[in-house]
Amino acid sequence: MEFRLIDRIRERTAQGRDDVRLGIGDDAALLAVPEGQELAVAIDTMVEGVHFLRDTAPADLGWKALAVNLSDLAAMGATPAWALLALTMPRGGDAQARQRFVDEFAEGFARLAQPHRLALVGGDTTSGPLAVSVAVHGFVPPGKALRRAGAKPGDVVMVTGTLGDAAAGLHLLQHGGADGMLADYLVERLQRPTPRVAAGLALRERASACLDVSDGLVADLGHICTASGVGAEIESALLPRSSALLGLFDDGSARDFALGGGDDYELCFTVPAARAAEVQADLARLGCGAARIGRIVEGEGVRVRGEDGAWLEPARQGWDHFAA
Ligand code: ADP
Ligand code: MG
Repeated sequence: MEFRLIDRIRERTAQGRDDVRLGIGDDAALLAVPEGQELAVAIDTMVEGVHFLRDTAPADLGWKALAVNLSDLAAMGATPAWALLALTMPRGGDAQARQRFVDEFAEGFARLAQPHRLALVGGDTTSGPLAVSVAVHGFVPPGKALRRAGAKPGDVVMVTGTLGDAAAGLHLLQHGGADGMLADYLVERLQRPTPRVAAGLALRERASACLDVSDGLVADLGHICTASGVGAEIESALLPRSSALLGLFDDGSARDFALGGGDDYELCFTVPAARAAEVQADLARLGCGAARIGRIVEGEGVRVRGEDGAWLEPARQGWDHFAA
């Protein structure tokens, strides 16, 4: 299609990797999977007005489209290697504006790709309502990938970083109040999430189950419970919340954002109780704290205990209003 645009993307995302035998420019990329590794692959699509607000900065979009995919690789304990990018942009309008959009998008993408040595090896460019799909490929030793299945009664439930920031940032953008340093921090957590790649690698052979929190803690931990055939009990007093979140919202709202807000891209994982302290110390050394938030039990589903010790009633559970 628009070769000039593709060239501009290629220039901005260049990355020297021996395993890319042929990158952008031919009908398909040629890639060499290192011997003795399994390929972990994932794809995520972001549609304007559905997954991001209409006036989102192109550079933020480029970053986030890659971040949400790297987060999926992190959740599997895979090392990122390659990506494909399908970009759908409105036709017409002024060509210079489109060029500027692509330049800024590619710069945001590259900013995150570079530290992970991730190579953009191809993609597709089409016209239509603004939408971005990124597919990523990573490596993992055979049989060592982290999965949603594997949590056992007695395991500790842990989560990296802090929860609820992104949902609070979105709330501020939509309802006003997105001024000042604390608000900037929350909006940044929404627009430029940090995929926990190093943490995912450190959890290999140690976490019994793992996923990334994209739809909200309760919903996503529920996926671990279903896949593992267990239940989980969460202590809302233990939910890690940023000082920005607690500074701008009352306790009840902060708890609801942490339990039900999407777009956190933190890792939620389970570890045998005997290893929890050691795993926590190792993740702290990697610069991404991990908090114990509860435990795995026999049964099914996720229950949340409030600060007063009583179980939160499902009907009253504040995170319901985040459901579609
Ligand atoms: P084809 O018609 O054979 O599918 P295209 O003209 O769509 O090829 O693309 C030409 C080359 O540019 C291919 O190598 C393709 O992977 C790459 N490419 C196209 N769009 C993008 C994009 N948005 N990002 C990265 N690479 C792209
Ligand atoms: Mg072709």
